[in-house]
Amino acid sequence: SIPLGYFGGIGAASKNGILFKGSNYLDLMTKIDTVVMDKTGTLTEGVFEVQEIKVTGLEQTEFLALTAALESKSTHPIALAVVAYAGNSYKQKNVANVEEVSGHGLKGMVDDKLLLAGNGKLLKKFQVSYPAEIDSIVETIVLVAINGNYAGYITIADKIKEDAKAAVQQLHQLGIQSIVMLSGDKDSIVQKVAKSLQIDQAFGGLLPEDKVNKVEALKQKGKTVAFVGDGINDAPVLSLADVGLAMGGLGSDAAIETADVIIQNDQPSKIGTAIKIGKSTNWVVW
Ligand code: ADP
Ligand code: MG
Repeated sequence: SIPLGYFGGIGAASKNGILFKGSNYLDLMTKIDTVVMDKTGTLTEGVFEVQEIKVTGLEQTEFLALTAALESKSTHPIALAVVAYAGNSYKQKNVANVEEVSGHGLKGMVDDKLLLAGNGKLLKKFQVSYPAEIDSIVETIVLVAINGNYAGYITIADKIKEDAKAAVQQLHQLGIQSIVMLSGDKDSIVQKVAKSLQIDQAFGGLLPEDKVNKVEALKQKGKTVAFVGDGINDAPVLSLADVGLAMGGLGSDAAIETADVIIQNDQPSKIGTAIKIGKSTNWVVW
């Protein structure tokens, strides 16, 4: 390939929709041996759709309205799906004291009721028990508790991005030693996605601080790590990695601000493109 000059590399990247916040990161991309990726919004579309609703003890429309009212205070992709599905039904509800419990879900008051909406860990954290068979559902699921009692669940599905498999393949071809996926989603889904994408190692059920610890451990082992993410919760791990790349389309503002590199159209195949541009950049041009 044609050697690119100092600014040429940055320019070539930007023409490909990859914004580097400094040319040092373009150089660093060529030294990466481990690529760590988030799942939701990075390797999957991050656009969820409601599949099934199972309610116990109240009307489904009321259940959905209460849940959507709470989720309307969150920008998480899961929340967007629930709100979109609920239509206008939740808009009359009064929502207060909403807390986003990182890696778990939401807690808040809707009208006169205390609601929890999130994963099994969230309900366990607040000592709300729910039917054991729910833990074996192999889908992303939002469990809901009302006034301390389990009230039902909503299952939602996401799609793997079209170029995700080719992106992982290309990273292997470019000599990346290890491709790792970290996710807060359930481990059963995470392992399924990892297997279908031929990702070397995958960990599910992680809290944001667990992601930080995993990347820290890799760096301690002397690995040069790129982290690719999109999430509200990914900022700490983006700044810890040797190079932090954020998905710019769906990505949260915090992720985009903290990242060193922005992938504008959210395609995971741009990770390999960035490495290739780095490799063809002529660093001795000055
Ligand atoms: P990831 O992007 O890897 O899934 P997050 O930390 O964003 O990681 O979320 C972890 C998990 O917490 C989600 O998979 C979901 O189960 C739960 N969760 C987070 N936010 C919400 C929300 N607004 N509504 C329901 N569940 C949520
Ligand atoms: Mg995420």
